[in-house]
Amino acid sequence: MAWFKKDKKPIQPPADKSRVPEGLWVKCPSCSQIIYNKDLAESLSVCTKCAHHFRLSASERLKTLFDGEWQVYDEGLRSTDPLSFTDTKPYRQRLEASISATGLQDAVITATGPIAGLRCSVAAMEYGFIGGSMGVVVGEKITRTIERAISERLPVIIISCSGGARMMEGALSLMQMAKISAALARLDRARLPYVSVLTDPTTGGVTASFAMLGDVNIAEPKALIGFAGPRVIEQTIRQQLPEGFQRSEFLLEHGMLDMVVDRRELKDAIARFLRFSAASAATARAVPAAAAIAPLEARADEPAS
Ligand SMILES: [Zn+2]
Repeated sequence: MAWFKKDKKPIQPPADKSRVPEGLWVKCPSCSQIIYNKDLAESLSVCTKCAHHFRLSASERLKTLFDGEWQVYDEGLRSTDPLSFTDTKPYRQRLEASISATGLQDAVITATGPIAGLRCSVAAMEYGFIGGSMGVVVGEKITRTIERAISERLPVIIISCSGGARMMEGALSLMQMAKISAALARLDRARLPYVSVLTDPTTGGVTASFAMLGDVNIAEPKALIGFAGPRVIEQTIRQQLPEGFQRSEFLLEHGMLDMVVDRRELKDAIARFLRFSAASAATARAVPAAAAIAPLEARADEPAS
């Protein structure tokens, strides 16, 4: 008999099963249903049997949201590798590999375009680019998205899909948390709405800053949302975590989110919120105007509309 027995199985590296694989048919990792690729595309990459949400790229995401044409901004911005960082391989090499794999210069696409007839300023994060991590470029592009919204009076929608701040840019990437949060505070003072959409996964510095600052925080079903990973938390607090911990439904139940919405209804949910906030803004403007004491003569002089 052995003195020591290993109770736990060794940890297996997770297979990247969220992304829709190439080919004509796709097997759902959740219910093992075989789905025709075109059917999957029609249902916005949601399994028609069990509603498993496959991960979307940033450009696919924009396609699901906008009504038609949209304009992309700051496409040419790219990281300069400010720390000349090297881990198992140089950061520059990682950047080059991600640029050729995704066709993007960094982990976010920013654009303006119509959503249900309302022009919006949108940022969608790309998980395929170094885990959707937030470096200087992502921070700058999202900040500009918000500033554009303020100057043109547009609502902001940010779709998070990120592993958090980008380690290879050190403290500079952490500073993006404050920069974006400050821009969101200015957006709030300008009384413009911000919808945060949290998709699988939204973790680290992104959760700890702008992803949780929405006027409304909407998550996709069963998305992993958290700051530190569950294993780190378990080791720190020395307790077993409850079932479904750090998933959208659990967070909704505990008051961290406002809504969990199926991707096929997401656009309608966003449009409903934007119309609601536009209506309440109009009411807020109308009330002080009506209460203002204006001389009766001045009103009588106004041309009848
Ligand atoms: Zn399924």
